[in-house]
Amino acid sequence: MLLTPGPTPVPEFVRVAMSGETIHHRTPEFEAIFAKTRELLIELFGMDEAVMLASSGTGAMEACVTNLTHKKALTVNSGKFGERFGKICDAYNIPKVELKYEWDTPCDINDVKKALEDNSDIDAIFIQICESAGGLRHPVEEIAKLAKSKNPNIMIVADGITAIGVEKIDVTNLDAVITGSQKALMLPPGLAMIGLSKAAVAKIEAKPFGYYLNLKTEIKKQRENTTAWTAATTLTIGLKAILEHIKATGYDKLYANTASRAKATREALKAIGLDIYPKTPADSMTTIISEHTSKIRKILKEEFDVNIAGGQDHLKGKIFRINHMGLVADYEAAWAVNAVELALDKIGVRKFDGTANQIFNKIYFGV
Ligand SMILES: *Cc1c(COP(=O)(O)O)cnc(C)c1O
Repeated sequence: MLLTPGPTPVPEFVRVAMSGETIHHRTPEFEAIFAKTRELLIELFGMDEAVMLASSGTGAMEACVTNLTHKKALTVNSGKFGERFGKICDAYNIPKVELKYEWDTPCDINDVKKALEDNSDIDAIFIQICESAGGLRHPVEEIAKLAKSKNPNIMIVADGITAIGVEKIDVTNLDAVITGSQKALMLPPGLAMIGLSKAAVAKIEAKPFGYYLNLKTEIKKQRENTTAWTAATTLTIGLKAILEHIKATGYDKLYANTASRAKATREALKAIGLDIYPKTPADSMTTIISEHTSKIRKILKEEFDVNIAGGQDHLKGKIFRINHMGLVADYEAAWAVNAVELALDKIGVRKFDGTANQIFNKIYFGV
C-alpha cells in the first residue's frame, strides 16, 4: 500500500488509458487530446490560462521564478520546497529576500508586510500552499490579498503541487499556481502544470526569459493546442483521463472526501497519543512527530504492508507522513491508522484497544 505523499499510486483506469501505442505529437489526433486536457486543466485551476511542461514540478518552479521576477523575489522557506525557490533565485543571480521559519511554522503575514515595506523593488512572491516537507498549510490567500493591496502589480506565485486536487483554492489574488503529475493527480512523474492569471501572461509576454522553460513560447504554442517541444504525450493522455474522472466525480466531492479523510486520520492518531507536527496542518498529508518514527515506519512496511514517508534533513527519523492526496480508498486510510496503533503496541508504547479505528470510523463514516 503506497501511502507516501508523492509519488501516489496510479489508478488502473489511468494506466489503461496510457497503454496505447505512442502517437505523434504533431497530429490532429494528439491536438484534440491536448485541447481537451488544456480545457480541463484551466477548469481545475480556475484560472485564465494554463501551460503543461515536460518536467518534474521543479521545472515549473524554475520557469515561474525566471519568467515572473524582473527585479527582486520574496521567497518563503518553511521547508525543502520553499528553500528551493530561494536556490533557484540564487542559481540565476536573481536578488531575493527570504523569510525563513521552522518547518512546522506557517509564514507570518506581518513578516511579508515588513519585507514589502523594506523592499519596494520586490515584484514577485514565491510560496507553497502546502509545504510538503512538514505537511504545513501556509496562509497563502491572506498573504496574496495583503501583497496585492500594497502593490497590485506584484506577482503571487503559489506552489500548489500538494494542494491542487486536494482542496479548493481561492485563486482571486494568485498569478501563477504550480502543480505536478505525481501527487494529487495520481500520474507517473514527469509533467508539470502552471495555472496563470491574465496579469501573469502579460508580464511573461512583456519580457520573456530562457529557452526550454520560456513561458511565452509555451503559452503561444499551447493556445494553438500544441507544445513548443515534443509533448509528454503519454502523460498528457493520462492527465486527460484523470481530469475527466475528477470532473465526473465532482471537484467538491473530491475535496470534501480528502478533507474528511485527513481529519479522521489526524484525530485517530491524536487519540492514540501521537502529536501532529505542523501548527497548521494541510489536508494533503498527516505529519506526525514521534521519537518512535523509524520503528513505526519499519513495522508498517514489513508487517502491515503500508509504505509511508519519513522526514528529510533535520527531521529525518523524527516525523512520518501519511498521504491523503488522490483517490485513496476508505479501507486504505482506515487500515493505515489501525496499523500505526498496532505498531505502537508492538514497540510497547501503548496497548492496542482499537481506538484509532474507532475514531477514524466515527469521523469518516459518521458512526
Ligand atoms: C513534490 C513537490 C514539488 C516538486 O518536486 P519535483 O520532484 O520536482 O516534482 C514541489 N513542491 C512541493 C510542495 C512538492 O510537494
